[in-house]
Amino acid sequence: MEKFSREMEELAAAWLEAEIPVVFTGAGMSTESGLPDFRSAQGLWRQRPESIATLAAMRTQPEEFYSFYQWRIARLWEVAPNPGHRVLSQLEQLGRLRKIITQNIDGLHQRAGSQQVTELHGSLRQVSCTQCGADYDSRQMLPRQPDWEAELQAGRHQPGEECKCPKCEGWLRPAVVLFGENLPADAWSDALTWSVRSDLFIVLGSSLVVSPANTCPELAADSARLAIINLEPTPLDDLATWIIRDRVAETLLKIRDLIVSEIPLGEIE
Ligand code: NAD
Repeated sequence: MEKFSREMEELAAAWLEAEIPVVFTGAGMSTESGLPDFRSAQGLWRQRPESIATLAAMRTQPEEFYSFYQWRIARLWEVAPNPGHRVLSQLEQLGRLRKIITQNIDGLHQRAGSQQVTELHGSLRQVSCTQCGADYDSRQMLPRQPDWEAELQAGRHQPGEECKCPKCEGWLRPAVVLFGENLPADAWSDALTWSVRSDLFIVLGSSLVVSPANTCPELAADSARLAIINLEPTPLDDLATWIIRDRVAETLLKIRDLIVSEIPLGEIE
């Protein structure tokens, strides 16, 4: 018989009882799919994301900006949802999860089958033209020459025509919220509504340092019980009823088993 931690058992019981369970995900949700996060020891890039993922960098350091996003876009299309993404999709189907608010831009929740997803920071699966507004699959912005990643590693890569719109030659940009930009108004209002309504709010794989997204768990904790599953401490740990310092996917699989074992069989079929 597998041994579960007390936190995990209590959280599973609370999840089963909750009327409006909401989860809030960050980059740590997708590291088990092979996508690096920003802040852990295996973080993504030598330069700080706060300085490179900005409109100013797009204008003043286009080579670094476009190389950064080309590398991230290439990784995004190589990976698949992990068991943690799939557990959340199953829990939604079982009526045990009402909303996923995500800071992630990888689209992996939707690819795992989750329907109720609010993307706070846009999506890296698309790019758009800063001049005419045309939207494209983000692979449009990848270099055509096959050895470009080796060139990038060697410090010789020069982003080129692929970063321009095929229709009007305006600069393309990733359809994500860059540091310093406002969040999409609809997504933000939806996230605030669900944070306030929720009675159980579960943070999965986020350092909770990116603002204003981190307002959601803070607001939720006024009326909901808060759980944080993250490998490292976060600034909101003091507000949490349960803190589980373990890997998201593994933990979710265990919690799912505890929840499903309590659901009457008729509800599962
Ligand atoms: P973050 O990098 O600031 O924090 C990630 C946290 O997850 C860290 O505290 C780390 O310890 C923890 N973590 C890593 N792997 C884990 C695992 N397997 N299990 C449990 N915890 C794990 O990420 P953030 O809080 O999402 O905020 C940074 C910004 O990063 C967001 O705006 C997001 O858009 C962007 N981002 C997204 C992706 C993605 O879409 N996959 C990837 C990198 C960065």
